[in-house]
Amino acid sequence: MTGKNINHKEIEKKILQFWEKEKIFKFNSKSKEKIYSVDTPPPTVSGEMHIGHAFSYAQQDFIVRFKRMQGYNVFYPFGTDDNGLPTERLVEKKKDVKSNEMPRDEFVKLCLKFLEEERPRFIQDWKNIGISCDWGIMYSTIDKHSRKISQWSFLDLYKKERVYRKDAPAMWCPECKTGVAQVEVQDKEIDSVFNDIIFKVGSENLVIATTRPELLPACVAVFYHPEDKRYKKYKGKKAKVPLFGFEVPILEDERVDKDKGTGIVMCCTFGDQTDMEWQKAHNLPIKMAISREGVMTELAGKYKNLKIKKAREEMLEDLRKRGLLVKQIPIKHFVNVHERCGTEIEFVKSKQWFVRYLDLKRDMLKWGKELKWFPDYMRHRYDNWVKGLQWDWLISNQRYFGVPFPVWYCGKCGEIIIAKEEQLPVDPIRDKPVVKTCPKCNSKDFVPETDILNTWFTSSMSPQIAIKLVDLKTQKKLFPMSLRPQAHDIITFWLFNTLVKSRLHYNKNPWKNVAISGFVTLKGEKMSKSKGNIIRPQDIIEEYGADALRYWAASSKLGEDFDYQEKDVITGRRFITKIFNATKFVFLNVKRISRKPKLHETDRLFLIQLNNLIKKITNALESYNHSKAKLEIDNFFWNIFTDNYLEIIKNRVYNGNKNEKESASYTLYNSLLTILKLFAPFTPFITEELYQNYFRKYEGLKSIHLNAWPKVFNIKEKKEDNKKFLLFLEIISRVRREKSKEKKSMKAEVSLTIKKNDFMMLKDVLDDLKSVCNAKEIRKGNFKVKFV
Ligand SMILES: [Zn+2]
Ligand SMILES: [Zn+2]
Repeated sequence: MTGKNINHKEIEKKILQFWEKEKIFKFNSKSKEKIYSVDTPPPTVSGEMHIGHAFSYAQQDFIVRFKRMQGYNVFYPFGTDDNGLPTERLVEKKKDVKSNEMPRDEFVKLCLKFLEEERPRFIQDWKNIGISCDWGIMYSTIDKHSRKISQWSFLDLYKKERVYRKDAPAMWCPECKTGVAQVEVQDKEIDSVFNDIIFKVGSENLVIATTRPELLPACVAVFYHPEDKRYKKYKGKKAKVPLFGFEVPILEDERVDKDKGTGIVMCCTFGDQTDMEWQKAHNLPIKMAISREGVMTELAGKYKNLKIKKAREEMLEDLRKRGLLVKQIPIKHFVNVHERCGTEIEFVKSKQWFVRYLDLKRDMLKWGKELKWFPDYMRHRYDNWVKGLQWDWLISNQRYFGVPFPVWYCGKCGEIIIAKEEQLPVDPIRDKPVVKTCPKCNSKDFVPETDILNTWFTSSMSPQIAIKLVDLKTQKKLFPMSLRPQAHDIITFWLFNTLVKSRLHYNKNPWKNVAISGFVTLKGEKMSKSKGNIIRPQDIIEEYGADALRYWAASSKLGEDFDYQEKDVITGRRFITKIFNATKFVFLNVKRISRKPKLHETDRLFLIQLNNLIKKITNALESYNHSKAKLEIDNFFWNIFTDNYLEIIKNRVYNGNKNEKESASYTLYNSLLTILKLFAPFTPFITEELYQNYFRKYEGLKSIHLNAWPKVFNIKEKKEDNKKFLLFLEIISRVRREKSKEKKSMKAEVSLTIKKNDFMMLKDVLDDLKSVCNAKEIRKGNFKVKFV
């Protein structure tokens, strides 16, 4: 059978069924073995797995499979993150509906139904790339179990006085119509225009530059820097706001940048963060020109109900007509946008729930240091985020599909009434509080909180959500978890919030290690639908198989972006053919020798090499360095095992005496098994297939992926072993070079002369050297290959 006949689709399908049927990856809560637990990232149900997923889940699976083969009792659950805004947006798109144009209840039902339909197909993608999760330990962040834990988290933080509700300006997305947290805001560079607009002070013109003229109706003051001599004369005077005609005070503040624009600025209550600081510092009135819907409010007079951009255009036009627009300078500047939809963030006054944590910044840095980061430098992203925190965590969303707040308000006095723990999960819209009357005013009128908890508030409980799926006694052994694997883009979202929650609830870090993966690029560029440079992992698996895809992914380093190269996947495919054929050759020619025979010197030297390889790979994987491990085993397989060792011993296998054959057989069987085991974390399908077909009947273990990590062979190492083996290979390669230089067949018979020292060093492997080079004799002297 040649490689072309290897049907990877059939093999992978069969092996997947075998793993599932035999529950190979089942976590055993009765086991006494050491536990290795993983806080698996729950992917957002988004239609299908993308290449970045395939890549980063493969990276974590290498480590998990290694740990399992080392004998750990592995806890590797699987979840899907399917609540909140991302799911709403997906359902709106796929089902062509608008959440705010249908009854809330109906929309929530539609979301749940959609998820039920989509989830199994979505999860199948993860199974197909060979992720070794225990599919019996599964959750969805919208299921009853997760809702309960998420709401418990809220209650616990409420009792600890870590959550509060406040009616204040907060970041707001006019497109999604919800409050957003600092972490959900991104910087985006956009083209904009500085408009020089005339404010009047008496009969004098005061020119103010602004990118947001539509905020004129919300203007509450103008500011200049106290050291700016140009404007000193206006101190204490008032400026008349153009188009709207009302007057505002002219004030000094050090936060003004003298060199930006004209050095004098207008302050509108909710323009940006500085505007809000000014409002507080100078006790200015609060004016809201933009509504939650993203249109102009009453304050804007004739511009009322216009969308922001439209209002801007019309006001500029009117200013121009009246000669109040002096100059327009195009600029590029950074604005805050909502990461979900790219819409510019506004500040809107609204009632929102927050987690109070700004007081903990110093502790947060300490907690981050207590984690072991792979790679280490990723901790800086965490540190920078903590240092730049300016807001408490906004956790309420004015949306529909998500975990509800376990909260009601007294309709009469506004008292907050929280659910009792035994009520959870609770839906305040449908359920009633346990108390019959308001504890403050005795009213029987309760108003439910209709906001939902932000999706990260729930997913940041993932360790507890997963752990609480097993029995109580085992739960204690699982926390803190061994590993949180995840991509770098959500360090500030998921990693940070999970860590903070765990400290607030339990005063403990949730995991010991974090492994951070990078992105997949194509020719160095980020893949995106708009660029049309998307590679689908499903297509790669279809054409080359999951093993080939994983083989490519294994060359990447943690934390680093990695280019997709089809040629690497093709090499993966070649590898599968090669190991398939090598195994076939070995079992055609050798029988398993159960007792270690007296080893031929070549075999001993080879096994010493293999011993060193086992040590190197084990060390690399212990430090989460899968790419080093893969590189080492790959080199060994191609350059030492197939190119050389198999060629060296062929003759001995066919023509050797009993002892020579036995030594070769023992070495071949055991080295091949070791190689399969070392490859097993990377290419789990083909290694399982070959193990089942050839080794299982001798080895007994149900799967190569269970407790099978190779141990070093018990062989005495001598001082010159490595040097001797390398010399052996070097001479073979020199002979081969000579043959190809002379355009001779590799099988051409030669007479070989090697240096006396080399001859002496290789004296007990000369028989193998002779046969691999097809030398009829080997003499001492200057190196020479003579064709006979
Ligand atoms: Zn948005
Ligand atoms: Zn009350």
